[in-house]
Amino acid sequence: MQYQSFLIKYAEIAIKGKNRHIFEDALVKQIKIALRKVEGTFSVTREYGRMFVSAQGDYDYDEAVEALKHVFGIVGICPVEVSDVDAPDKLKEKAVSFFGREYPDTDKSFKVHVRRLDKRYPLDSQQLNAMIGEAILEAYPSTHVDVHEPDIMLQVEIREKVYFYSHVIPGPGGLPVGSGGKAMLCLSGGIDSPVAGYMIAKRGIKLDAVYFNAPPYTSERALQKVIDLAAVIAKYTGPIYLHNINFTAIQMYIYEKCPHDELTIHMRRYMMRIAERLARDNECGAIITGESVGQVASQTMASLQATNEVCTLPVFRPLIGFDKEEIITVSKKIGTYETSILPYEDCCTIFVAKHPVTKPNVDVIRRHEKNLSEDIDRLFEEAIATDEVIIVGKEDVRQMA
Ligand code: ATP
Ligand code: MG
Repeated sequence: MQYQSFLIKYAEIAIKGKNRHIFEDALVKQIKIALRKVEGTFSVTREYGRMFVSAQGDYDYDEAVEALKHVFGIVGICPVEVSDVDAPDKLKEKAVSFFGREYPDTDKSFKVHVRRLDKRYPLDSQQLNAMIGEAILEAYPSTHVDVHEPDIMLQVEIREKVYFYSHVIPGPGGLPVGSGGKAMLCLSGGIDSPVAGYMIAKRGIKLDAVYFNAPPYTSERALQKVIDLAAVIAKYTGPIYLHNINFTAIQMYIYEKCPHDELTIHMRRYMMRIAERLARDNECGAIITGESVGQVASQTMASLQATNEVCTLPVFRPLIGFDKEEIITVSKKIGTYETSILPYEDCCTIFVAKHPVTKPNVDVIRRHEKNLSEDIDRLFEEAIATDEVIIVGKEDVRQMA
């Protein structure tokens, strides 16, 4: 059956009181962005705590559902048939024929659930439930009613129009991107950081991203891998501004001036400082990383303290308590895993020490960092000046009603 509309269910946002319109506006915007990629022309409308997506004319149903499944804030996508408000007899006929088209020859159990939002309607919900239920039993005798655990729940909502639906396609949940501000994701080509970005975006936060590139030690293909990862995340978030920063000079300078077992810590401190500058210049309220405590030497509690202390913005580390296996499960689910495991060099792996410190002493790190004082400020500014912004996930804008 080809539906012209979808009823969009959004639970968590509905309870946000006075801020509700902020969340709803953000959700409408994200739905529109998601549908730009889909063949067809759509409109998004709101009606008393319900949101509807309607297609004008032909459209690609599967693509539309797929796009909506990527919009945070949506908990359910219900393909819905919309009709005028008719007298009870006519309404009953429509419900019966809707049921028959949805479930031809079914022997499953069902329940009818009518919601009468227009109280002027001549019958109340209980009367309508009973009337429609009986009519379905009569028309399709192989079905039966089960009010506790029905296989099929036929929903009928009477508003300015009547809405029939019975399928609820799960959405991703969370909050609509943009409703919680924006943060700067440190995005490498690994498995972890794309997952970290996804998780924070799911809490309603829009993402900018920064990638530290180290040519000629890292290739164009390594950059392309990061762009590809950002493109997968952008399916959930809308376009991402990816800042590509040339980090080579800073890395070389650290390599020259600091003890090699501390290289990663010093590099991470400068990455975080640059991320913080970019975050502030781009209205981001936090930095996001894919760190997980204990995963590698640079992610022990002592190492995290050493990298964290250079930032004043909050640093979100949503994977902090995750095992690698758990992270991999999410990365497979969201579609970044296959790209993440491609073998291109990340800038850190070239300069890693054989035996990195696992318990850096912050005072010692600070002291060794002074070895950089001659040139580091200049190199820092030069690195910022290399900022190349790549807008990822900006598809052609199709017509929106
Ligand atoms: P990932 O799988 O995300 O690469 P990782 O386990 O390899 O993480 P590290 O290399 O120690 O861990 O990096 C920790 C975090 O620092 C990453 O999750 C990412 O947020 C950030 N990061 C590391 N390298 C880069 C880079 N080249 N560009 C941007 N961010 C980076
Ligand atoms: Mg990495």
